[in-house]
Amino acid sequence: MQGSDKRRRFLKTGALAFASALAVPRVRAFDTADPASVAASAAREKPVCRMQPFALNQVRLLDSDFSRAAAINLEYLHSLPVDRLAHSFRVQAGQPSSARPFGGWEKPDCELRGHFTGGHYLSAAALAWAAQGDATMKARGDELVAILASCQRPNGYLSAFPESFFDRLSAGEKVWAPFYTLHKIQAGMLDMYRLAGNKQALAVATGIGNWTVRWLNGFSDADMAHILKTEYGGMNESMVDLYAITGNSRYLDAAHRFDQASLFEPLASHRDELKGLHSNTQIPKIIGAARRYELTGEPRYRRIAEFFWETVTQNRTYATGGSSNDEFWNTGPGDLRGQLGLYAAECCVAYNLLKLTRHVYAWNGDPRAFDYYERNLYNARLGTQDAQGMKLYYYSLRPGGAKFYNSPTDSFWCCTGSGAEEFARFNDAIYFRDDDALHVNLFIASELEWPEMGLTLRQETDFPREAATRLRFTLTQPREIALNLRIPSWIAPGARVEVNGEALDTFASPGSYLTIKRTWQSGDRVSLTLPMTLRSVPLPGDDHLQAITYGPIVLAARLGAKGLTHDQQYGRYDAGPSPEPKPQPAPQIAPDEADPLAWLAPGDKPLTYRATTRHGVVDVAPLNTIQGERYAVYWQTEGSATDAG
Ligand SMILES: [Zn+2]
Repeated sequence: MQGSDKRRRFLKTGALAFASALAVPRVRAFDTADPASVAASAAREKPVCRMQPFALNQVRLLDSDFSRAAAINLEYLHSLPVDRLAHSFRVQAGQPSSARPFGGWEKPDCELRGHFTGGHYLSAAALAWAAQGDATMKARGDELVAILASCQRPNGYLSAFPESFFDRLSAGEKVWAPFYTLHKIQAGMLDMYRLAGNKQALAVATGIGNWTVRWLNGFSDADMAHILKTEYGGMNESMVDLYAITGNSRYLDAAHRFDQASLFEPLASHRDELKGLHSNTQIPKIIGAARRYELTGEPRYRRIAEFFWETVTQNRTYATGGSSNDEFWNTGPGDLRGQLGLYAAECCVAYNLLKLTRHVYAWNGDPRAFDYYERNLYNARLGTQDAQGMKLYYYSLRPGGAKFYNSPTDSFWCCTGSGAEEFARFNDAIYFRDDDALHVNLFIASELEWPEMGLTLRQETDFPREAATRLRFTLTQPREIALNLRIPSWIAPGARVEVNGEALDTFASPGSYLTIKRTWQSGDRVSLTLPMTLRSVPLPGDDHLQAITYGPIVLAARLGAKGLTHDQQYGRYDAGPSPEPKPQPAPQIAPDEADPLAWLAPGDKPLTYRATTRHGVVDVAPLNTIQGERYAVYWQTEGSATDAG
């Protein structure tokens, strides 16, 4: 979030107290949005998608790191009372509220107030209902929508801050990011409608849309070019979505006024001019371009989104799949020298890159999209929550850094919000379909229901601790289905696939799909081995700094917790440790040319290693499991051109 002050001094954080994680609820029978409006909305989508996602309520997570993380997130969201969430909206609307205000970016005088309480929380509630069948979050979401509807002004304006913030925006006066916050609220309402069937939420989102249309009418395109210099989230996306649902083209026209020419024009010409830009300010605009393509079929918007995806995921990401340093792209494409900072890889950036990847993949079906998705999901998202549901803002890459989390009710950073949503949708994107073809993209224990095919597909695996996955078909009658198994680009030699215990004599090359087309019977079984190997992944622009991966998993050096204080791991308003941990050099290694990874020996647990460095032996573990201690992701060989940070 642009304009946050991560380095400001802050108060001591209170103790954290939460009960242990609950089991993931297994409620299955629930409704979402009403079928007639879903059909009308679907008819407005242009036929540009090769791949279709499954609805969130068609895929259920089975026991895994993902289901356990989702349960912890849910428990945290349950702990936030509705009257406290609604407080600033009620105060703004002149209604009585005796609730204790939240702190952090939701405190009553923070200019971003409402972004989490009336935005991310509603999206997370809708996702938790659709993805996990969590009735508590559905009830909380419905209650909050009703309160916020009562706070909406007759002109459609709804926010926890006054309309005058928008006057300051248009006058060029200092104000944090009013449209950013409005986008979160409108998107939260649209999610409550689309995923949880709340019609009142659609009425509120439409009111916000009408207010926005009228506000925009007061400004020329030249005025807008100035206004759009302040972070505005994905207003172009939520207004396109409102058009998709209502069919009212004035929302589509209004969305276009949020398209920023200075960002889009170079991208449409396949030029990466992202250096110097605030990373997470840009990605939601590109997601808006992606949605516009899906609703209008205008190829320019696809070009913008696909080129942006390509240059950012291939040229501007760390081995983890995260991107940005101090929230910006400070360098040219393919050059991350000097970018291993304490405030690297903002979590909202990784969240939004996953969201964009789901769009781009739906158009092109390119398995490379899921090589990236998986890398990001395991290394930039899964490990960003502690056992109490607290989330990271930055994913520090400075050697000797530690994970730094928000507090329960005194932070509400942007990444607290995007994290609350992400951890409620881990069942998303595991499977896609293409007519009667099924694509298995991720190796996450789960069960898919595909009623049109009479199919229940159960995937059982302990991946990545286990280098294999197993699928079991349950069918109401035999069906011909093309089963497409993603063969990751990281797969090592020796992989094999078996159908009902018999090995097939064909396989597919890494980074492609293995297609098994046959008439499947109930009880059929497929097993796929996924051999993994250690690899070194150089930092773009500096071959002497290397991350180590095992399959899709980034491994990190465990550097211990000596001297690491609570205030260096948990924050309140400010998103940076106090004091900042002392910089230290990346662990130094001396790889043998004949056997470049011989300095790593297997540890005593799966996915762990022992590394021989120039300064002794250190333990190595998956980055996503490291917590409460210092770590280093990149290792330095002789002759590094940079100081690693
Ligand atoms: Zn963020």
